[in-house]
Amino acid sequence: MANVLVLAEISGGKVKKTTHSAVTFARKAAALLGGSYSILALGSDVSAVLGELAALGADKVLVAEAPTLEHYLAEHYAPVVAAAAGSFRVLVATASAFGKDLLPRVAARLDAGYAADVTELLSEGTSLRYKRPMFAGNAFGICRIESAVEVVSVRQSAFTAAEPTGSSSPVERLAVPAAGAGASRIEWVNLEQVKNERPELTEARVVVSGGRALKEQFYELLNPFADVLGAAIGASRAACDNGYCAPDLQVGQTGKVVAPALYFAVGISGAIQHLAGMKSSKIIVAINKDGDAPIFQVADYGLVGDLFKVLPELTTKLRALKDA
Ligand SMILES: Cc1cc2nc3c(=O)[nH]c(=O)nc-3n(C[C@H](O)[C@H](O)[C@H](O)COP(=O)(O)OP(=O)(O)OC[C@H]3O[C@@H](n4cnc5c(N)ncnc54)[C@H](O)[C@@H]3O)c2cc1C
Repeated sequence: MANVLVLAEISGGKVKKTTHSAVTFARKAAALLGGSYSILALGSDVSAVLGELAALGADKVLVAEAPTLEHYLAEHYAPVVAAAAGSFRVLVATASAFGKDLLPRVAARLDAGYAADVTELLSEGTSLRYKRPMFAGNAFGICRIESAVEVVSVRQSAFTAAEPTGSSSPVERLAVPAAGAGASRIEWVNLEQVKNERPELTEARVVVSGGRALKEQFYELLNPFADVLGAAIGASRAACDNGYCAPDLQVGQTGKVVAPALYFAVGISGAIQHLAGMKSSKIIVAINKDGDAPIFQVADYGLVGDLFKVLPELTTKLRALKDA
């Protein structure tokens, strides 16, 4: 059947925005295939999110509820998703930490091909082609998946969030298969989450990222600047590896991929691995004391100067403008 299944990402009783990007992909894929798309929701009780999911224009919202699905654990989720996806042509989720962790396991269970980090959907007749970045975004590959089920993760920044259609899709409850031997050895114990008042890095409209140059003053200098702008904070790998900031702030090839309306790169050289995670940002502003730093090649606005002087000045001026 030429239908598409979107795997919803639900966290803390809410549908994550990532799901809406996967729905945009699914709408296009279903149109190319001449089929429809459904959405799969997993959890112990997903009733709070059914209204939002049912309004996204899907053929059906499939629900798999079980106490073992209360918290995300790949070993518990993968068999359920694989059982649900078997009758679909394409299974899609966003390439978030959730999608990246879960989809390869689902693909392995289905003996299916997997295209990760897809940025564009193409077609040849009724056969889909997936465009995806390779070599830190320096080349693009176009792939075709030949297995019965095609498993795909999409880059959130490449697919705008789907708006509700005003529909009310029917809800269908699925039987949850008994946990296999692997799952029964895994148990949810506890989540110690870092409390963060800032917007989530991958969803923020403004991101302020700092590099190695900030040293131990990373937060001291970036926090006030980000506060004025209502921005999320990101970082280069060098800043993370040196312990100047938390590792989950890393933007880039081996970190998070962001595409905000405004991205500040402060004391970041602009290595290709960093660019791979932010170069789709709408407007890029670079602050660097080296006028030849590669970051200026992708920046829309560049400020050559010492960040220890420039950043506090900029923060003060922006705060004054805001308060005026
Ligand atoms: C397999 C692989 C994966 C990687 N993945 C990632 C990734 O996901 N993300 C990532 O970021 N990197 C990644 N890297 C590392 C990447 O190659 C770079 O080493 C890293 O991005 C450099 O970080 P940086 O720009 O902060 O530091 P540097 O390259 O040291 O640059 C510091 C910059 O600060 C400027 N500066 C210094 N002092 C000041 C000052 N006072 N005022 C203003 N400017 C100043 C300098 O001119 C310089 O341009 C990866 C590398 C590999 C090999």
